[in-house]
Amino acid sequence: MSDRDIYVTRPFLPPLEELMPDLERIWTRRDLTNGAAFHREFERALASYLGVPFVSLFANATIALITALQCLRISGEVITTPYSFVATAHSLLWNGIEPVFVDIDPVSLSIDPARIEAAITPRTTAIMPVHVYGRPADVEAIQRIADTYGLRTIYDAAHGFGARYRGQSLAAFGDLAIMSFHATKVFNTFEGGAIVSRDAQTKQRIDYLKNFGFADEVTVVAAGINGKMNEFQAALGLRQLAHVDDCIDRRREIAVRYDAAFGSIRGLERLEAMDEHEPNGSYYPVFVREAFRCSRDELYRQLKSAGIYGRRYFYPLISDFPMYRGRPSAAPAGLPVARQAADSVICLPIYPELSPDDQQRVIDVVRGG
Ligand SMILES: *Cc1c(COP(=O)(O)O)cnc(C)c1O
Repeated sequence: MSDRDIYVTRPFLPPLEELMPDLERIWTRRDLTNGAAFHREFERALASYLGVPFVSLFANATIALITALQCLRISGEVITTPYSFVATAHSLLWNGIEPVFVDIDPVSLSIDPARIEAAITPRTTAIMPVHVYGRPADVEAIQRIADTYGLRTIYDAAHGFGARYRGQSLAAFGDLAIMSFHATKVFNTFEGGAIVSRDAQTKQRIDYLKNFGFADEVTVVAAGINGKMNEFQAALGLRQLAHVDDCIDRRREIAVRYDAAFGSIRGLERLEAMDEHEPNGSYYPVFVREAFRCSRDELYRQLKSAGIYGRRYFYPLISDFPMYRGRPSAAPAGLPVARQAADSVICLPIYPELSPDDQQRVIDVVRGG
């Protein structure tokens, strides 16, 4: 590791001076957690920024996913995607739910709605799609199927901060949507996450569940967990919110520069733009095809030896990990599009502070020069 190394992402942080008054308030008040002032203010600010009715803050998105499934009493089987970060499917196993993998659409890279109906059984209770790389899943088609079969929809929107579809935040779709504020995401509170819900009663239930099930000092209404976001994270989140639009603009500018540089390289394919989608520049994935000058893994190694750390998100597929691969729906024969994506994608460095010189270094190594 050296100063010259370039990682796939570098977390943005606000200037430390901005945070100092908040830290002094926390130190003076000693209200460190349990839904104190910064927590409440950050929930309101986020709901307003995202344009969604209700936000419940969490310590991280994985606990939020697990709690979302608890909240809607999801059981039996849930239809989901193998092309995601493992936490998506792990949240099902933590609830004793059977994940059923279906293949993805080659453009959205999220669940292919045409594959969902064939995977529905009498035990199916919900669909859990992912807005991969901040690109929208086919929310309309998925909702139609959910309505027809009486299924709930829980979206893993961990990549979706600041991305929009038809003018709405990606967090605005589904019965519940889960966001991640992990250090590697577009918007970070070091660790953190949230559930977006549609009505006050559901938010109330989520808020009980994330605090052990306490409804008041002496009343416990559910076997809840401790999923609360603390005051430090919430104060940081409020400060981060003031910068996030600039961060997203910077990411988009870098994506435009990469697009121009990579457009004419044989065998290197960028993701297709999607209708009515405003991207958040959260990742810069490219497909390395047969016609490229070397294999995807060889490009990954060439970048690495130049001190540039691309990531093969999402390789291996979730369905390849030992706790999933024995399931019938994890069989490779049923997941050819996901397999193809996992074997050909590499995510290149993109983050607000990636300098023009470093962007050029990435471009030069990809070009093979
Ligand atoms: C990052 C991520 C998560 C987990 O988020 P944490 O906040 O780290 O728990 C879940 N799903 C997807 C798709 C992710 O990328």
